Amino acid sequence: MAMASTLHSDRQPDKLRSLGIVALNGMFDEMDAVGVMRQAVAEILPGDVAIVSSFGADSVVLLHIAAQVDPSLPIYFLETGKHFPETLAYVEQLKKQLGLINVTAIHPAPHDLARFDPDGDLWETDPDSCCHIRKTEPLEPITEQFGGWVTGRKRFQTKERGVLPHFELTSDDRIKINPLAYFNDADVAAYKAEHDLPEHPLYSHGYKSIGCAPCTSVVAEGEDPRAGRWRGLNKKECGIHYDFSGAIASPMNAADKYSLFKDGTFVADPFRVWDETMVAGEARYAHVPLPVFLENREAFLANPHPLGLLVSPGDRVEDAEADLGRFVSIAIKFPAFTDGRGYSTARLLTERYQYANELRAVGDILQDQIPLMRRCGINAFVITHKPTREALIENRLPEVNIFYQPVGTSEVPVGTRPYLRRAS
Ligand code: SF4
Repeated sequence: MAMASTLHSDRQPDKLRSLGIVALNGMFDEMDAVGVMRQAVAEILPGDVAIVSSFGADSVVLLHIAAQVDPSLPIYFLETGKHFPETLAYVEQLKKQLGLINVTAIHPAPHDLARFDPDGDLWETDPDSCCHIRKTEPLEPITEQFGGWVTGRKRFQTKERGVLPHFELTSDDRIKINPLAYFNDADVAAYKAEHDLPEHPLYSHGYKSIGCAPCTSVVAEGEDPRAGRWRGLNKKECGIHYDFSGAIASPMNAADKYSLFKDGTFVADPFRVWDETMVAGEARYAHVPLPVFLENREAFLANPHPLGLLVSPGDRVEDAEADLGRFVSIAIKFPAFTDGRGYSTARLLTERYQYANELRAVGDILQDQIPLMRRCGINAFVITHKPTREALIENRLPEVNIFYQPVGTSEVPVGTRPYLRRAS
């Protein structure tokens, strides 16, 4: 993978701050797209700028500008696994024709696909989660490597972008560069014609904005080009942090975005809270309350999609013993700090029933509880309490080494002499 020559920690936020993003836009507002790109790449953040490109219908203009300024500029292509074959061919065509020598495809994590989208049809029912797994998550470690990102966003595309400047400073001192901010449809067409740039192979077939195949459709004459993206859904962008034209929206720490803490970090959570509109035979990625599962057991067992189980205080998890392996996640509800019933449920699941998938704690969870929960086999936590989130990020949780109710065979109850315990 291509690496930026400068890591984020070595960057020059002070320079950016002192220069001021307003001044930057004032200085380069009149500059053409090639000039803006050249300033960013050569002067403002040399060696610390990259592009994410969808290699869609409009991508060729930005890529051509990049090739003029620096053909070795790192360009990342999100290979979601859902692209049209024509798009994959177009990537190769543009690499060759424009002389781009630093294009890297980034892929979704296989374990995320296996866990959250085993059938490859998540886009159908939950496109936001699909975009998270296939775009946002793979992109995140890449964005952290660079201080500047070139986007293909344009003012005319949406009303939210109506005031898009050439340069934007993000909250973590990264800079987004929008060389095409002032381009309109006619400008794009004129640029393509002037430089004799190849169209995406599907453009002439009515695809005016092209992303993943399942979420892209032909648009009618006169229709908004983006009407063909996620048609029928109230969705216009690929997610909070990545948009359809390859723009990095607003970089944030994972800990700021997500509530699920798992494997030592905050991660995207594909699961939703069960609601009454969900149907037993069709639901997916929801924690089904235990009583609802028991009432509709046959339908849930026939449901082929990933599901979780929600166990609340008073629920008898024993009643679902035979079906526990059906759930990829079990959520145990801890409604209050003083309610310890969830610990017993967790131990029952892990020790007696050998449940080995995700076991998560939900509810009012504070940092002192987490070491105790971990002892009981809980391996994921939905955390909203701010100090607890900070403690997790900084890895400062209290240690537990006195046990009144030991777990497993290695913990010795307080006041017990080990040799006596062994003897007993
Ligand atoms: S655009 Fe569609 S197929 Fe592609 S990642 Fe998003 S939801 Fe999935």
